[in-house]
Order: sequence, then C-alpha cells, then structure tokens
Amino acid sequence: MRVAIVGAGIGGLALAHGLSGAGLDVRVYERDPSPRHRRQGYRIHISPVGEEALAAVLPSAVRRRVIETATHPGDLVSGFDRQLRPTFEQTFPGGGPETVSAVDRYAFRRALMTGLDARLEFGRPFESYRALDDGVELRFADGTTETADLLVGADGVGSRIRGQLLPSYEVIDIGIRCVYGKIPLTDELRGLVPPAFLRGFSFVSDGPGGVGAAFAPVLFRTPPEEYGDYLMAVLTGSPEALGHSDEQLFSMRPEQLWETVTAKTADWHPTVRRLIAAADQSAAFPITLRSSLHIEPWTTGRVTLLGDAIHPMTPAAGAGANTALWDAAELTRALTGSAGLHDALAAYEHAMIENSQPIVTESLQNARQMFGVTAPSV
Ligand SMILES: Cc1cc2nc3c(=O)[nH]c(=O)nc-3n(C[C@H](O)[C@H](O)[C@H](O)COP(=O)(O)OP(=O)(O)OC[C@H]3O[C@@H](n4cnc5c(N)ncnc54)[C@H](O)[C@@H]3O)c2cc1C
Repeated sequence: MRVAIVGAGIGGLALAHGLSGAGLDVRVYERDPSPRHRRQGYRIHISPVGEEALAAVLPSAVRRRVIETATHPGDLVSGFDRQLRPTFEQTFPGGGPETVSAVDRYAFRRALMTGLDARLEFGRPFESYRALDDGVELRFADGTTETADLLVGADGVGSRIRGQLLPSYEVIDIGIRCVYGKIPLTDELRGLVPPAFLRGFSFVSDGPGGVGAAFAPVLFRTPPEEYGDYLMAVLTGSPEALGHSDEQLFSMRPEQLWETVTAKTADWHPTVRRLIAAADQSAAFPITLRSSLHIEPWTTGRVTLLGDAIHPMTPAAGAGANTALWDAAELTRALTGSAGLHDALAAYEHAMIENSQPIVTESLQNARQMFGVTAPSV
C-alpha cells in the first residue's frame, strides 16, 4: 500500500516511522524548503502518552536519538505574580536518564527525521487532492501530482486537506496571542534565574485581563549544532492587552515583537526584566491560539487526518503534540493489523475522535483559567 503523508511535523514523522517499519510504501510531502528551515525552537512537554506512542512507532536507533536530544526532565509547575511572589506550586516525580518529558521542537523534529531521508520530500507545498477510482491524486503548488492508495493529512492547524475534506469544520480563535522568545542560558544568567524557572513550567501573571508570561527551561542532554540551553519565554494576552492589532503584531520584525514584551513587563520584578533583556531577540515569533470545538465523524474514504489537522487545541493542556503522537501510533496499529483499508481507517477515525475530544475540551477549560478567555464551551 502506498501512503502519502502531507506534513513532516511531529505526527507525520512519527506515522512515517510506524508505517515504513511495517513495510508500507510511505512518502512524506513537506512545504518547508529544507529540514533546517524552522530553527526557532520551543519547548514541548512530552507526557507518558506521548512517550508510549514514540516507543510504539520508532525504531530503536531513532528512539535513542530522541532520548539523547531531549531536555533534562523537570519536576515543578509554579505560578507567581508580577513581583515574583509565589501563587502556586505543584511538584511531579522527576524522570530518569531515559525519560523524555520535554523536548525542543527543532531538535525533536530533526531526531524524528533520522532514517527517513529517502521518504521525505521538502519544498512540496500540497494544494489539493482528487479521488480516483482506486486511490487519490495529490496536486502540489508547482502543478506536479502524485498518486497514493491513502492520503493522510498531517498538515497542522491550517490543514488544506481538512479544508477540502471537511469544509464546514470549525476552528475558533480563542482571542489570545502569544509572543515566543528564547533566552540563552549563559553561565552568568543561570545564576540570576529563579530556581523554580529551571525546574519546569512557571507562569507569571499580571492578573485578570492583563498579560502573562511563561518561562520553561530547555536544558539539553545533547544540544543541536545550532544552539545550546535556553529559557523559553512566552508573553500571552489579548490583542487589547498586548496593545497591538493582529495586522500590527503579525507584520512586526522579531526585534519589534520583543520590544512589546519588554514594554509590557517594564514594571515587573527586576529579575524578570533582566531575563527579558537577555533574550535572543531575533528568535521571537507570534502565534494565534486556536482550537477545534466539536470533532464530528465523517464518511470514511481514502483521505484521513491526524494531529492538529483534525483536533487543534490551545497549548494550555500541553497535549497537542502528545495527541498527534497518539494518533500516529493508533493509525499505525490500525493500518498494520488484519483489517482491510476501509475498516482500519474507520476504526482509527472512531478511536481518534473518542480520544481527542475530551482533551480539546480540557485544553479550552484550562485556557479559560490561565488566560481568562471567554472561549465558547464544547
Ligand atoms: C509554541 C508552542 C508550544 C507548544 N507546546 C506544546 C507542549 O508543551 N506539549 C504539547 O503536547 N504540544 C504543544 N504544542 C502543540 C504542538 O506543537 C502541536 O500540537 C503539534 O506540533 C501538532 O503536530 P502535527 O504533526 O499535527 O502538526 P505540526 O507539528 O504543526 O506539523 C504540520 C506540518 O505540516 C506542514 N504543512 C502545513 N501545510 C502544508 C502543506 N500545504 N503542504 C505540505 N506541508 C504542509 C508544516 O510545515 C508542518 O511541518 C505547542 C505548540 C506551540 C506553537
């Protein structure tokens, strides 16, 4: 069976390993021009669900690479007000030397590409598909086409494949924008960072309706060639709280974005200000927080979806990547079992919706608490 996967993100790469390991003919089409294209990096929490899925689909050499390039596990989630007075604290058991509980997205994605060179095609922006009698035809932005027996849309929150398969599917904007940044952890800065910030996820809040800032360490077991340990810093708030319309925010240069972060935290605790001032300003980027609401079943055919392409969610449950990995393991299991293609896909789609709907709901509830948003309930 020839399987075309569109999107070499976290879910698409995990699926490519699972299926090619079972002997299926897999090709992955990615719009980025090269594997080194998106190098900003940011921290992604990997839960036991994600770890189990990775163990199920990855060959041992690739799994080893993932473990080696992961960050040292943290053991704390903490909250502070803007003068760095603690507001809450929760500890977790720290993991052992083989635990993967957080990764840098760039290093993780590079590790997941290990061994897939012959199956990955960069610079192939997918445009649309067409059903054939015995398969699917994919059309790319440059007018070229490919055929496959099955098309998997792993093309993220803005999925073109979802747009064609489920045109009335609703993805909402929850009204929160984030500016991500990176604070390189020099020896001098390590001495300045509050200890809690180096132990896990810390959220500093300006109070209801204001902005918040999250900090989380990326302390590599083995860093990528391009950069070393850093503290991820994220400013969150509504466009009103950030003081910029979307038009302004999404046309700013990284340095201008960081000026906004600096201005919005200008009267915060001096330690926060020193950390913000030490950021690599060129690494800043903005995002809009989006979420699905109701994931309705569709008629099973030769096109299916996984990860953010079908159930985008806010990062407030730390579960988007983990759920994409779960999908990849579940779809691998379905397609490599004894059922025919139609039944295997129907079983996957049913299980995927059952699994992801409660997580989407939880991530919206968490977003309401964390960011004070009034997103619609599900
Ligand atoms: C800043 C940030 C922090 C996050 N933190 C966490 C966390 O702590 N824990 C967690 O579980 N999740 C987290 N998430 C969510 C997580 O990153 C996503 O849920 C996850 O990446 C989804 O994986 P995916 O494979 O579905 O999509 P993606 O990883 O987004 O991959 C989609 C791929 O498809 C490609 N693509 C898109 N359109 C096309 C096209 N037309 N043609 C070809 N290729 C295309 C894209 O270039 C991309 O490579 C975070 C997200 C962000 C933005």
